[in-house]
Amino acid sequence: MIANFHTHTYRCHHAKGTERDYVLAAINAGIKYLGFSDHSPYYFPDGYYSHFRMSPEEVAEYAGEIIKLREEFKDSIKIYIGYETEYYPEFFDKTLDILNQAPYDYLILGQHFIGNEIGEQHTAKPTDDAGALDAYVNQVIEGMRTGRFFYLAHPDVLNISCDGDYYEEKMTLLCQEAKKLDIPLEINMLGLREHRSYPDERFWKVAANVGNKAILGCDAHDPQHIAQPENVEQSLRWADRFGVEITEPTEPIKIRF
Ligand SMILES: [Zn+2]
Ligand SMILES: [Zn+2]
Repeated sequence: MIANFHTHTYRCHHAKGTERDYVLAAINAGIKYLGFSDHSPYYFPDGYYSHFRMSPEEVAEYAGEIIKLREEFKDSIKIYIGYETEYYPEFFDKTLDILNQAPYDYLILGQHFIGNEIGEQHTAKPTDDAGALDAYVNQVIEGMRTGRFFYLAHPDVLNISCDGDYYEEKMTLLCQEAKKLDIPLEINMLGLREHRSYPDERFWKVAANVGNKAILGCDAHDPQHIAQPENVEQSLRWADRFGVEITEPTEPIKIRF
């Protein structure tokens, strides 16, 4: 593994380590292309505080720190500025305005809620409501169609028990759209490390059938998570098991269309 674009920092309040800690860990682990994708600030109406992301005021400092490190370590590693962000339709444009206050290279789509996070459903919370699957797939497709995302993080984060044929039918729509837009799907290494409900076998059977490209993402919340050898091994085995092709881009895409 020489490229990782899924890296958090202490700024999101649930990860540890500074940007510098992650750069040093990445160089140590043999990573040549490192993208920071901390949980992006989001525009919300007054009075709502989102506890798992940096605040809009931190954007300039985050970007500035990464730019400094990019220069300092340019002979050992190529560093990119990014964010992991949700597609919440009613707040997305104003969120882009916040992000545009400082330079950045890419966004990855990580859809942690259906609807938005104010009083709505967390995608990792177990559910057997088939409507949740429908809503998740539609929202992710709409998000991908904005052309603003480099790749789709943990596409299978939705923790749903439902009829297998229905799951296959809906996730096929998501996978077909990703393929059409040439958006890679992430094999989430945090999910594998922590034995979460994702990666989900049902999903990767569909992705293999559709012929999607997969990308490995450490989803590091601790510098030690960057390209841990057992975790990389485990992820490659996962791809092999379903026969999905791994792509390892060395440069992210900021705007697709
Ligand atoms: Zn996180
Ligand atoms: Zn993440």
